[in-house]
Amino acid sequence: MAKLTIKDVNLSGKRVFVRVDYNVPIEEKEGRMVVTDLTRIRETLPTLNHLIGQGARLILAAHLGRPKGKREPSMSLAPVAAELAGLLGRRVQFVDDCVGKEVRETALSLKEGEVLLLENVRYHAEEEANDPAFAAALAEGAEAYVNDAFGSAHRAHASTEGVARLVAQRGGPCLAGLLMERELKFLGEELEAPARPFVVILGGAKVSDKIMVIDRLLEKADTILIGGAMAYTLRLAQGHKTGRSLVEADKVDVAKAALEKAKARKVPFLLPVDDVVAVPVKTGQLDKKGKPIVDYQNIRVNADLDCPADAAGLDIGPATVKAYAAAVAKAKTILWNGPMGLFEDKRFAAGTIGIAQAVASATQSGATSIIGGGDSVKALNKAKLGDRVTFMSTGGGASLEFLEGRGLPGVAALADKPAVAG
Ligand code: AMP
Repeated sequence: MAKLTIKDVNLSGKRVFVRVDYNVPIEEKEGRMVVTDLTRIRETLPTLNHLIGQGARLILAAHLGRPKGKREPSMSLAPVAAELAGLLGRRVQFVDDCVGKEVRETALSLKEGEVLLLENVRYHAEEEANDPAFAAALAEGAEAYVNDAFGSAHRAHASTEGVARLVAQRGGPCLAGLLMERELKFLGEELEAPARPFVVILGGAKVSDKIMVIDRLLEKADTILIGGAMAYTLRLAQGHKTGRSLVEADKVDVAKAALEKAKARKVPFLLPVDDVVAVPVKTGQLDKKGKPIVDYQNIRVNADLDCPADAAGLDIGPATVKAYAAAVAKAKTILWNGPMGLFEDKRFAAGTIGIAQAVASATQSGATSIIGGGDSVKALNKAKLGDRVTFMSTGGGASLEFLEGRGLPGVAALADKPAVAG
C-alpha cells in the first residue's frame, strides 16, 4: 500500500517531527569530531527544503552509532548540526538532549521555516525500548510526523514508531519524506510487477542472511545469479568441495531447499562456474579492530567446481562474470544485493566490478536497476558507477527485511494513501 508523502499534505506553519538518518561516519581529527562523509546529510535536503519552503517548523531527530543509552561524546550530533547548517544555508539550532525543558522551550519557540536538531536519541535507552513515556516526551508539541530514515524503519523504536503513533492519535498526519518515498517506490512498487526479464543478483557472506530474500524472489525473478561466499554453501549443498572458503556448514539444508525450490519453479539459479582462489596465510598481525590480518598467496583462477583443499574462493572468476553479464544484458529489471567476493581487497574485486559494469551498461540500455543497499552500494561507488544505476537504497538491514516482504514498523506507522476509486 502506497504511503502518504509530504507532497500530499501541506504542513505550512506546523511543528513537524522529522526522523532523519544522520548515522554518518565521524572521526576525531585534531581533537574534534569531524563528519567524514556528508552523503546522508545531503540526502535529506530535498525533504527539508520542501518543508522549509512551506513554512513548517522542523524538529529533526536521529541516532548516531551505538551509545547504548549513555551520553557518549564521540557520538554527539553537534558536528552534524554544523554541517547541516552549511548545506541548508541557514541556522540550525541544536540542543544537547532530545527531551526535557530546553528541548520543549526551543521547539515551542521555533518560527516558520526554522530548524532544530535534537541530540542523539540513542543517548536514552528508552529510544530502542520504544518506551511510551519517552516517545511522549519526544512527541511533545509535534503536530505532524515525517519519516525520511528508511535505514532505521525496520526497528520499532520511539523515534521511528512510538512518536508516529502518538501524533496519529492526536489526528496529526504521519508522512513519508521524499527519500523514504523513493525507497518504497523502488524496493516495493517497482518490484511488485517488474518489467521482464527480472534478473536478481545476490552475493555477500552468508546464505542465512539472504535465504528469506531468495525464497521470496524465487517466486518473482526470471533468473537468479549467485556470487560471494554464499555461493560456497550452495556448492557444499551440491556435494562439491569448498576447501577453506567461507561456508556455513550448518546451513547446507537451507541451501539444498533453495536449490530444490529453484528447480521446481524452473527458475534459472546460476552458481559461479569459476572462482578466484588463494591460500590464506596468517600474518601474526592484528588490524585496528584487533582481528588477525590474513594474507593471500598463490592467487589464481580455478575453473574446477571443487576448491583445492588448501585454498579459499574469494571472488567469482572471469567466465562467471561473462555468463552473469550476458544474463544482466537481457534484463529489463535488475535487483542487486551483496558483493561477488572479498571486494574490499582489490585483488578480489574484479568480479564485483565486472557485475557493476554490466548493471550500469544494462541501465544505459533502458533497464531499471535497483541496488539493495549495504556493500553493493559501496562497491558501485568505489567503481564510480553509483550515478549509472536507477536507484541505490540507503538501507542495509532495512532493505533486506523489506525485500523479504516483511512489514517494517517505521513504514507501517505512516498513513496509507487513500485507494483510488475505479
Ligand atoms: P554481506 O554483508 O552478507 O552482504 O557480506 C558482505 C561481505 O562479504 C563483504 O565484506 C565481502 O568482503 C564478504 N565476502 C563476499 N564474498 C566473500 C568470499 N568469497 N570470501 C570471503 N568474504 C567474502
